[in-house]
Amino acid sequence: MLEIKSAILEKFGVPFEIHDVSLKDPVAGEVIVRTTAAPFCSTDWLGWKAMRNKQPPVILGHTAVGIVEHTGTGVTGVETGDRVVVAGTPQCGECFYCEIDRPDQCAALLEMPEPLVAVKQDGTEVRAAGRVGAYAEYILANQNQIWKLESDLPASQLSLLGCGITTGHGAVFNVAQVQPGQSVAVVGLGHLGQWMIQSARVAGAGTIIGLDLVPGRRALALQLGATHALDPADGDPVEQVKALTGGRGVDVALEAAGPEQAVQQAVMMSRRAGTVVLTGVQQFQAEVSLPQLALAIQGRKIIGCQNGQSVLGRDIPRCVELMESERYLAAPIVTAEYALSEVNEAMYASGELRDLSGVFTSFR
Ligand SMILES: [Zn+2]
Ligand SMILES: [Zn+2]
Repeated sequence: MLEIKSAILEKFGVPFEIHDVSLKDPVAGEVIVRTTAAPFCSTDWLGWKAMRNKQPPVILGHTAVGIVEHTGTGVTGVETGDRVVVAGTPQCGECFYCEIDRPDQCAALLEMPEPLVAVKQDGTEVRAAGRVGAYAEYILANQNQIWKLESDLPASQLSLLGCGITTGHGAVFNVAQVQPGQSVAVVGLGHLGQWMIQSARVAGAGTIIGLDLVPGRRALALQLGATHALDPADGDPVEQVKALTGGRGVDVALEAAGPEQAVQQAVMMSRRAGTVVLTGVQQFQAEVSLPQLALAIQGRKIIGCQNGQSVLGRDIPRCVELMESERYLAAPIVTAEYALSEVNEAMYASGELRDLSGVFTSFR
């Protein structure tokens, strides 16, 4: 077993502690990756606040970039020394959903408990969030969520591939299938919303409207491709969007915020027979109520979205190419770099909306 440093969620709402733990040895099909960069995801702020059904003690962090250190038996596709993405969504290749080409719903992610990957000095076993556990010097993960990278871009930027980039890209290209000239609204301009804005631009959307309460996030969206950035506090956001789209509403509304109200707004700011893509969940137990007329007679297509319905073996190389050709810009999304020992600073900067993606790049 490998002795590693990791940031462990011991109790909800209590600051993280850095622990030395023993990472288990890889069994067949598993890989140990030395972490070089891992973003603090806004999802983990919700997990920390007990809104995500996490089971402490758990190492949070569901995506990373790193170098393959060691492989268990039967591992194919990656070898020691490879630069890889460890993605938050597995593709087991064997479950019903993988068989029908919907690995975003893979049973390994959505039907199984998060794995026990490490042991604390007192003998307590520790889980890995998203089957990754990225806030640690090393990661133990199954090969079915590890993808070899062919890129020299900075690790801090590539580390966003396993979460925000593929989710935003997939929401636009796989789920909404935005067509050139279409009007698009993005509700919520956190890291995910900013990737949706960039993807909508690359897809050739015409009017691209971003909505967020935070002025800096609206300003960045305008730099990254939004044609309009609206403050929901300036008046009914649905009416503001309709005013920009001939009174009809947008062709495509993408929700990337989480609260029930954001879901309602996304639906109501789409036009009749338009497309609505829902990605956010603030609290797993939350419910949303919507006007029945908008759901049925008005013919909207409302589609749920996990990891952008990505097939990562196909979509990671596409996203890397878009990053390398600078059509996707990651530098403005990486708003800070942290050492693992600064995990609590990173968490508050995420939760208080000061960071888009704060990325751990040092793990000692
Ligand atoms: Zn994430
Ligand atoms: Zn599967």
